[in-house]
Amino acid sequence: MIRVNKTAEIPPSLQEAFCVHYDGHDVQESLYNDHHGKCYLCEQQTGKNFEIEHLKSKATGYSPELEFSWTNLFLACKYCNGRKPNSFEILDPTTINIEDVISQHIDLYSKKVEFKSSQSGLNVQHTIELLDKLFNGKTRIRDKRGQILYEDLHREISFFFEMLIQYKSTKNSKNKQIIIDCLSINKEFLGFKYWIIKDHNMYDEFNDFMVWNKTA
Ligand SMILES: [Zn+2]
Repeated sequence: MIRVNKTAEIPPSLQEAFCVHYDGHDVQESLYNDHHGKCYLCEQQTGKNFEIEHLKSKATGYSPELEFSWTNLFLACKYCNGRKPNSFEILDPTTINIEDVISQHIDLYSKKVEFKSSQSGLNVQHTIELLDKLFNGKTRIRDKRGQILYEDLHREISFFFEMLIQYKSTKNSKNKQIIIDCLSINKEFLGFKYWIIKDHNMYDEFNDFMVWNKTA
C-alpha cells in the first residue's frame, strides 16, 4: 500500500443537487486513472473488476454525505472491498505516505507477510490489521483467493529481488533499467518493493523513481 493521489476536481455527477449514485461513469473514469488501475489496498491491477470503495464506511456511524463525498471514494478490487470491515477506520492514503508509515515485508520462506509501524494510533492499527487479513488470511489461514494473492505477490517480489541482486553484482544501465521499470507507478506491490530497496541500502540510488504520489 502506498500514497495515492486523487485529482482535486470533483466529478460532475457527484456535484448534482440530488446525487443518488456515487459510481457514475465520470467517477469511475477519474478513480481508475488516479489509481492507475490498481486497488489502493492490495496494489494489484483490477482490470475491469474494480469496485468503488468508501474509505470511511457508508454503513456505519458517519454522516450520509460521505457516501457521495469524492474524498471518501477509492478504487479497490472485489477481494479487498469485500474484506474490509465497516468498523475499520484506516489511514487516508491521500494525506499520508503509507509506505513510510507502514513497513511491508514478505518472508519468501515462511510465506508470512508482515506489516509494522513505529507509529501508534487506531488508524495505523486498523490499517495493519486489514493488510494482515488480506495478505495472510483471516485467522492466519488463506482461502483460495488469499492464496492466489499471496502467490502473485511471491512471484513479483521474487523476480524483483533477483533483479536487484543481478544489478548489485553487475551495475550497468541495462540492469538498472529493469529495476526502474519494476518501480513504475502502474506496477504492482510497490510498497513491498520500496522496503526491499531501503533494506538493501539502495534508497539514495532509486529514490527518484519511488516518489510516486508524494508531494514536496
Ligand atoms: Zn485489492
